Amino acid sequence: MMGSAETPGDVSGETPTMAQQQADALGLLAETALHHGIDPGAPGERYQVVVHVDAPVLADPDLPGQSVLEDGPHVPAETSRRLACDASLVVMRHDADGRVMEAGARTRAIPPALRRALQYRDRGCRFPGCGRQFGQGHHIRHWVNGGPTTLSNLALLCRWHHRAVHEDGYQMERQPDGELRFWRPDGRLLPDSPPPAAVPADPVHALRARHDAQGLRLHARTAMPGWLGERLDVGWALDVLHPLAAGRPQA
Ligand SMILES: [Zn+2]
Ligand SMILES: [Zn+2]
Repeated sequence: MMGSAETPGDVSGETPTMAQQQADALGLLAETALHHGIDPGAPGERYQVVVHVDAPVLADPDLPGQSVLEDGPHVPAETSRRLACDASLVVMRHDADGRVMEAGARTRAIPPALRRALQYRDRGCRFPGCGRQFGQGHHIRHWVNGGPTTLSNLALLCRWHHRAVHEDGYQMERQPDGELRFWRPDGRLLPDSPPPAAVPADPVHALRARHDAQGLRLHARTAMPGWLGERLDVGWALDVLHPLAAGRPQA
């Protein structure tokens, strides 16, 4: 896991601001639309954000150097590592004056065939309890640090949890048995969430049949209380609820 300039304990990992939630919602809307045939391209090709990163920064976020968006704003080094995790890459070499000396062919961090295999194996985000369908390929050990682009070093993570492991101090590791383990920023192990209960093919009829078997008659007014807002009669409530109160003289 990469070190971060801020202490991981300060991170409000579970309480995104309203602005962050809105940005995530917008991203999810766009991805959902793209998944329904507007653009048949591969996930890494559907939109393009160009980030120029100094090679040393990509390998170690604590080293000096810069990562900037094409039109100017600077990007945190951890963010550029996350973007490079699953992206198209063009390596350019510049001379001291910034002129391009050499530009390599565009390659994908995760080739299409491997991405299909990853999607098939993981199906959705692997963060405990998430399972969101649209994922990004995450290199458990980043390729810039020598991590191989192989199924065993990849895991599907949704946009939110991909950020959690790159920028918010969460850590993940694949165990020798192939299972993934996740740790909170404070080092505590995140427990595995149990698999969701199986939903019967016809859930409404299955539920009705179960109620009928238990003799329950549920209708639109079942959950409506008979109480109209009167004050609580404590003496009466005790008489009803407490066995020792029965037969006691009333106060
Ligand atoms: Zn990643
Ligand atoms: Zn997720």
